Amino acid sequence: MHVMGGTWPKTPAQALDMLLEGNKRFIVGDRLHPHQDTDHRTAVAPAQHPFAVLFGCADSRVAAEIIFDRGLGDLFVVRTAGHVIGPEVLGSIEYGVDVLGAPLIAVLGHDSCGAVAATREAMVNGVTPPGFMRDVVERVMLSVLSAPDGLTNPDAAGEAHVGYTVDLLVDRSNIIAQRVADGSCAVVGLSYRLAEGSVRLIAGHGVP
Ligand SMILES: [Zn+2]
Repeated sequence: MHVMGGTWPKTPAQALDMLLEGNKRFIVGDRLHPHQDTDHRTAVAPAQHPFAVLFGCADSRVAAEIIFDRGLGDLFVVRTAGHVIGPEVLGSIEYGVDVLGAPLIAVLGHDSCGAVAATREAMVNGVTPPGFMRDVVERVMLSVLSAPDGLTNPDAAGEAHVGYTVDLLVDRSNIIAQRVADGSCAVVGLSYRLAEGSVRLIAGHGVP
């Protein structure tokens, strides 16, 4: 199946629906594996029109196309440990919405996140990780602090970090803010549960 016809998402609402529908299939083990065939590979080779930018944690258990049951050309995926943001991340996401025209940015966090755990460890015990892992921890720290129970509740800290990341995208990028303001793009925060395979909408700007 490589022809989506008129059903290809054009609005933030349609894009979010398509994302969540794919996740529902994944939860129950009824995946369609859309857009993974050789015909579609050929069809999308000349140009890409992803319906969403997926900005998620790099965790090996949170593989974007698998958990949303999508295929080639569907998602413009950017992932870093703890979905922390730097200039290259912002530029990549801006490319996805401004040049490729994706109507949705989905920030994807999850339970048992190593980056969040390392940040809480650093704040509670004063142990900062070596190398550039320290930069990851520093960028998660404000989120953990912003959650009332961030130091004692890992899930609360993780969800606060998703919300913080959603806000940061709109605050830091004029391009994203403008697209949200004119209604052509939404930014949503999703929380993923590893065992259940389910995502939940927990934050957003311009959400329909
Ligand atoms: Zn993680």
